[in-house]
Amino acid sequence: MVDMASKEQRIAIIGGGPGGLMLALILQKKGIRSTVYEREISDTNALRGGSLDIHEDSGQLALREAGLLEQFRSIARYEGQDMRLFDKHGKLFINNVADDNMPGSRPEIDRGILCELLLNAIEPGRIRYGYKLIEALPSDDGKHELHFENGHTDIADLVIGADGAFSRVRPLLTDAVAEYTGISRIDLSIDTEVHPELAAFNSRGSMFGLGDHKAISGQLNGDGRIRVGLSFRAERDWLDYCGIPFGQPEEARRQLLTYFDDWAEPLKNYIRCADGDVTARRIYTLPIVLRWVSKPGVTLIGDAAHLAPPAGDGVNLAMRDAAELALSIDHHSGELDKAIEAYEHNMYTYSSESARMSYDNIQLMLSDDAVTKIKNLLEKFLV
Ligand SMILES: Cc1cc2nc3c(=O)[nH]c(=O)nc-3n(C[C@H](O)[C@H](O)[C@H](O)COP(=O)(O)OP(=O)(O)OC[C@H]3O[C@@H](n4cnc5c(N)ncnc54)[C@H](O)[C@@H]3O)c2cc1C
Repeated sequence: MVDMASKEQRIAIIGGGPGGLMLALILQKKGIRSTVYEREISDTNALRGGSLDIHEDSGQLALREAGLLEQFRSIARYEGQDMRLFDKHGKLFINNVADDNMPGSRPEIDRGILCELLLNAIEPGRIRYGYKLIEALPSDDGKHELHFENGHTDIADLVIGADGAFSRVRPLLTDAVAEYTGISRIDLSIDTEVHPELAAFNSRGSMFGLGDHKAISGQLNGDGRIRVGLSFRAERDWLDYCGIPFGQPEEARRQLLTYFDDWAEPLKNYIRCADGDVTARRIYTLPIVLRWVSKPGVTLIGDAAHLAPPAGDGVNLAMRDAAELALSIDHHSGELDKAIEAYEHNMYTYSSESARMSYDNIQLMLSDDAVTKIKNLLEKFLV
């Protein structure tokens, strides 16, 4: 499908997260060159979030196109599909144990390992670290001039925003901005070698404790640590005025425990047993059905296109977008604008369904009688 014209076109991918890396790799498989511009000075994916479940109909589909599906399956943690659901009193509502003889369709892998898999397969020199895009200026011929913080400029025939929630490419296509969901989250981490009792309580995958419009979640990662998330319904500024000193982890954990005073002891242990940093973040979302008028030479993938709360399949969508766009570019050999339009048309359908689900799920987790509602929802999928 590749002709000389498309070989010479300059494709710039802004952002080296799972979406941007997957796009560069599938294009490479099709013989199409691209350059990834990443703002960090080296790969930091391992530091940005924990274990991810990779779905058969999206993330794994992209891994197949990238030629990495078998390698992925050989290292993915199928037992990570275990899931336990408790109420705040420690009453067990769901205990789903992954069947070792029947590997499920959503195995887990740590974000760092997944991105390393992609990075190892990308030709050397295709990724430029330390390139933070400041702005992309459209010119009359449909190209874009890229301006980076390090003073460098470049021209691209096609610029793809894979630069996440606060994309610098998105304003070229839409005025939509990421908005606060009304939910804030505090991340902690536990070493299961020091606390094997918590590893046993947690299961080999995920644990959710729900009640009082709050949630404690625990997710066992490949490195033996449990990543803990404490979710609260809160005003946008709550993290600033709540008085919890996030920079002093021990005192922060002591104060956080007071928000869960009457919760069961094993659930409170997710705060007591944590060590290391305490990280606070606000959860943002884009409008659920975000569309724009297609423009020459520019498009978006992943969170830049359809950021949703982390309760669904953000990374899977980012990788599916990458596959859909790469295949469309290959299919429309040289005709980039047609390729973008076809990709966007297709992407709107599957991403808006998924964004709606993510938004509804996270609201449900922090609603009245959340544990019963989540139990009813999950049982439809777990049967
Ligand atoms: C706490 C939390 C937990 C999550 N859990 C899950 C989960 O369990 N399952 C799941 O599927 N999803 C989960 N997600 C969502 C998932 O992380 C995202 O949907 C996914 O990472 C999107 O990939 P992406 O490549 O589009 O963007 P990102 O992963 O955000 O990558 C964007 C990249 O662009 C770079 N960048 C940003 N701005 C610029 C710039 N101006 N110039 C150059 N580079 C730039 C960034 O440094 C980054 O490398 C979670 C998210 C959060 C916050």
